[in-house]
Amino acid sequence: MAKHIFVTGGVVSSLGKGLTSASIGMLLERRGLCVRMQKLDPYINVDPGTMSPYQHGEVYVLDDGSETDLDLGHYERFTNSPLTRDSNYTTGQIYQSVINKERRGEFLGKTVQVIPHVTDEIKSVIRKLATEGVDVVITEIGGTVGDIESLPFLEAIRQIALDVGKENCLYIHLTLIPYLKAAAELKTKPTQHSVGQLRQIGIQPDILICRTDRELPLEQRRKIALFCNVPVEAVIEERDKDFSIYEVPLSLVQNGLDELIIRKLRLEGLAGPLQLDDWKELLHVLRNPEHEVSVAVVGKYAEHRDAYKSIYEALDHAGIAHRAQVRAQPIHSELIQREGPERVLAGFDGILVPGGFGERGIEGKVQAVRFARERHIPFLGICLGMQCAVIEFARHVLGWTEAHSTEFDKNTPYPVICLLDEQKKITDKGGTMRLGAQPCVLQPGTRAWQAYQQVLIHERHRHRYEFNNAYRQQFAQAGLIVSGTSPDGRLVEIVELQGHPWFVAVQFHPEFKSKPTAAHPLFRNFIAAAIQHRRQPAPVATPGV
Ligand code: GLN
Repeated sequence: MAKHIFVTGGVVSSLGKGLTSASIGMLLERRGLCVRMQKLDPYINVDPGTMSPYQHGEVYVLDDGSETDLDLGHYERFTNSPLTRDSNYTTGQIYQSVINKERRGEFLGKTVQVIPHVTDEIKSVIRKLATEGVDVVITEIGGTVGDIESLPFLEAIRQIALDVGKENCLYIHLTLIPYLKAAAELKTKPTQHSVGQLRQIGIQPDILICRTDRELPLEQRRKIALFCNVPVEAVIEERDKDFSIYEVPLSLVQNGLDELIIRKLRLEGLAGPLQLDDWKELLHVLRNPEHEVSVAVVGKYAEHRDAYKSIYEALDHAGIAHRAQVRAQPIHSELIQREGPERVLAGFDGILVPGGFGERGIEGKVQAVRFARERHIPFLGICLGMQCAVIEFARHVLGWTEAHSTEFDKNTPYPVICLLDEQKKITDKGGTMRLGAQPCVLQPGTRAWQAYQQVLIHERHRHRYEFNNAYRQQFAQAGLIVSGTSPDGRLVEIVELQGHPWFVAVQFHPEFKSKPTAAHPLFRNFIAAAIQHRRQPAPVATPGV
């Protein structure tokens, strides 16, 4: 029977619960166990799909098209646990399902209450992952202990120990041990309080993972152990990592976490020795780069790193693949509008325009594409970034100065990007989002094909607008070719520029499928081109084309 690990957080948010949960999943997997990962978010939105990246960071898209919390990106990068829409639930979803059941009369006239009806629903979504062959289900509870919204989730995980036996459940609480300069001391009181709150609702944590910015001395660990009612070996230090988040699993191993979990869950019989050689190797590469390249990431949410989290991660992975340090520089596209591309973008070895929604900053992105195209700087366009590449080419190469996407200009005479329905001349514009993994067929011999080395690929999507097929031929004749389409040929998935060192733009989001140990082929080849550009910038023969 599958065992359960519940990860909660205390004292403050942003402690890195997602990373820690992903690291725990990774360590257990690398001891030979079959792991499933899940995040339960106490907010009321049904999913993060409608939430602003400023508020909540990027929306992470899964193969099955679910729009999820960005912590699921950590899960996928650190583990092989397959993620589906069962891997992320919110209060909104839980209540929606309880209310639907009530409307269908499934509660047989009973008064519907938080306990037991909402908590039962939460327990059922947790237990859903505990299928045959799974050894451990790791469920991370979003938010911070003490929030009103978290209570039903905490109550549900408390009850699970009663349902499946305490020996099959492990409660891990992530907490902060702040250092107070004035006292020159690490302070344990906030941790005592947050554990106190958990105990009030009937949860005694088994393991405390303590975030600190410095070493947690034995004396402090003893104190925490005594006040929080755990053995001292279960007080685990997790010190801040200034170098790389990929150090987290190794530091948890050093502090004995994998052994402790296996012992407490009585998994000794199933677990094997820890296999971390490839992970140690990637850290070695990160520490000893042989090259350095700089990449401008031109977007709207430049000041908020979490908004393009997977993009930055994928760039790092591509760097690892080439033993290169990638310096990714977020650039606000409006800055390019104000100051001009020359001032802002000169000197970068690669330019990346990521996905996005809304008109703000579009012209700056178009200018960035033009700069990359004309100066022969390696370019990767992603989703909205591809759409900007198409608009730019239409305006400045084909001479259609008013070309645009109908997302931003309904009346453009050249709707080079538009809704499919508009292409079919249907007036109903209620296009729904194209989401999740979709097949794409590549043209042999193209840059895209060179990267993937195969004809049929699957990549994740999250967009409404598409390349307008009416113009395909004119684009191709002028040098922007279609190198990937949907298998029926109707949807343009990838365009690339002929006669340019490396200019590839894709309608999908390759960043969601990149892993530290397996860089995404497009990011890998983009960075290869950037390294080449740094060594020897390609001559720019005829500026403007
Ligand atoms: N806004 C564009 C669309 O809906 C691009 C979306 C994106 O970049 N994810 O098609």
